[in-house]
Amino acid sequence: MSSSVVDDQQARLSPPATSFPPDHTPHHSGARMSLANPDTLLDTISLYLHIPFCHAKCHYCDFNSYAGMLGLRERYVDALAREIALAGQRARLPDGTPRRCRTIFFGGGTPSLLTAEQVAHLLTTARAAFAVDADAEVTLEANPGTLEYGRLDEFRAAGVTRLSMGAQSFDAGLLRWMGRIHSPEEIETAFASAKQAGFSSVNLDFIYALPGQSQSTWAATLDRALALRPEHLSLYSLIVEEGTPLFNWVRQGRVHPVDDDVAADMYELAEARLAAAGYRQYEISNWALPGHACRHNLTYWHNLPYIGLGAGAHGWYSGQRYAEARPIRDYIARVETVESLRDEHDSPRNGQPAPLPAAAAVEDERIPRDLEMAETAILGLRLVDGLDLDAFARRFGSDFASVFSARLTPVRDADLLETRGNILRLTERGRLLGNEVFARLLPDNDATS
Ligand code: SF4
Repeated sequence: MSSSVVDDQQARLSPPATSFPPDHTPHHSGARMSLANPDTLLDTISLYLHIPFCHAKCHYCDFNSYAGMLGLRERYVDALAREIALAGQRARLPDGTPRRCRTIFFGGGTPSLLTAEQVAHLLTTARAAFAVDADAEVTLEANPGTLEYGRLDEFRAAGVTRLSMGAQSFDAGLLRWMGRIHSPEEIETAFASAKQAGFSSVNLDFIYALPGQSQSTWAATLDRALALRPEHLSLYSLIVEEGTPLFNWVRQGRVHPVDDDVAADMYELAEARLAAAGYRQYEISNWALPGHACRHNLTYWHNLPYIGLGAGAHGWYSGQRYAEARPIRDYIARVETVESLRDEHDSPRNGQPAPLPAAAAVEDERIPRDLEMAETAILGLRLVDGLDLDAFARRFGSDFASVFSARLTPVRDADLLETRGNILRLTERGRLLGNEVFARLLPDNDATS
């Protein structure tokens, strides 16, 4: 398994960690939108639950999601509930008390294809297995083509506090080209229904740099999105992923990817419009109104532990990164054949380390401390608030400068990094050349010369 700093299952978070869109201007005004003292949260977890079902497969999508398999939904939810219970037990604190869980995220796939009863069942199981904060952020990803008011109301009653909708575009032609199952109007209807159901925090995802998309159609999408005034917006540039229909179209010359400069212009256009509308950028691809930064995603940017469960989910826990079995049937079979919870809990370990919290993990990798330090720095530098050097020192027991100073001298001299008080940030120039900085942080790219 690779040592990528951002796990690909949860990769909709962002473009690759080492790929900064060019020349975006962060907005440093206002309150910080990162977690205060993240080092104090190392004993807590965030819980990611993967729901791999979709009505149809979008042409650009390489997520672990499957169309035409809804018949497995009940068995899958049962397996997932069982795995949550087991994970809670395996992740207990040394004194036997449940571990604190700050956020829960239903990602996919299309989690809104679950029934409200299934969502409620999974949340009840999670609350029994972990010490879930009373005010935990509980996000559910939803496809606007699968939502109507009644279901939204039920999701909220089940304990979901935040909705994240894959809107992707307000251009009907582009939605069809992407293979999306919804129309522009259905986005607006679903958003209105979410508000009517009482959701006070709604994210909309959009994709830009789509072949055939002009600056004016992108601007029209942004205007229509901003007219809704969602609390959060995530904007991703289209990435051509191997194994997708889009990848084949590009290889066959039937589709031409958008030029990087055009994509950069779209990014800048979005930045300007969102800033003017009062949104604050807190990460490369994420903007929010005050108080609505996604706490779950901040777990990733602060490189804090998270337990990912479900087919193909990834996790980062107790110094190990792992990945679960990807095919739905494999995943179910693995969880169903795990020893009973009581047997496992009672069996002696004979000096063996505690098992991973994920019963269906098929790959795992211990992350050495120097790599964890580098990844924490790289992820922290993606945040507009930058990396808190005091928290870093408390977390690792060593000063950032004493570990990285020598190898960072060239990029500091080149004015790519700046320190203000206890905050380390990329400069404006550094954001253009983020790869230069990140390469020097990674231990196997020890570029001190
Ligand atoms: S709805 Fe989402 S997860 Fe499902 S195929 Fe489309 S992009 Fe992929």
